[in-house]
Amino acid sequence: MTHSTGTLYIVSAPSGAGKTSLVSALIKDQPQIRLSVSHTTRAMRPGEVNGVNYHFVERADFLAMIEQGDFLEQAEVFGNLYGTSQSSLQQILDEGHDLILEIDWQGAEQVRNLMPDARSIFILPPSQEALRQRLNNRGQDSDEIIEGRMREAVSEMSHFAAYDYLIINDHFAQALEDLKAIFRANRLTQTHQQQQHRVLLSQLLS
Ligand code: 5GP
Repeated sequence: MTHSTGTLYIVSAPSGAGKTSLVSALIKDQPQIRLSVSHTTRAMRPGEVNGVNYHFVERADFLAMIEQGDFLEQAEVFGNLYGTSQSSLQQILDEGHDLILEIDWQGAEQVRNLMPDARSIFILPPSQEALRQRLNNRGQDSDEIIEGRMREAVSEMSHFAAYDYLIINDHFAQALEDLKAIFRANRLTQTHQQQQHRVLLSQLLS
């Protein structure tokens, strides 16, 4: 088996579409896939762990990282700064691991321009009603807050057409199969198979 280079995947979705659960389940099933841990200035939510869910940093530190050119991409999302740091990304891909960036549409646009080989996936809810219900189930929030989240979700979803793949997360198990299928099909492309089976391919033709 010869050395193979991993693929960079961008996964975007509105909040409430189930993106984090789907990506977690994918990685549990295929632990060779890596997930990039972003930097953010937003406050830590209960249950989140620094360095696992995000690297939580002060705004001044984030701005210093921008100055130093540390980010592959970065964006302001609903008042907070988020970014993917460059360090280690290339190394992970060179080691042959697929790498997922869970980022918003603005970051996706930047990564697509810098790395045209990246594959992008957008996850959608099955309906506005289902999305509203999922956003509502998260806590005891007022209608005003839920409506604000719905507007943010619709704004994020308006960018779906820029992505290579669309997944409708109606039934979780089916959506997970769809996600796995994208990764599997990509490993079967000419580029990947030729890297993976160089020796076999030359032997077959000798
Ligand atoms: P949350 O704060 O709910 O975890 O994420 C809010 C939004 O920020 C989501 O759309 C998420 O995909 C996006 N996001 C998370 N990390 C990054 C990042 O590193 N870069 C960009 N551009 N967006 C991110």
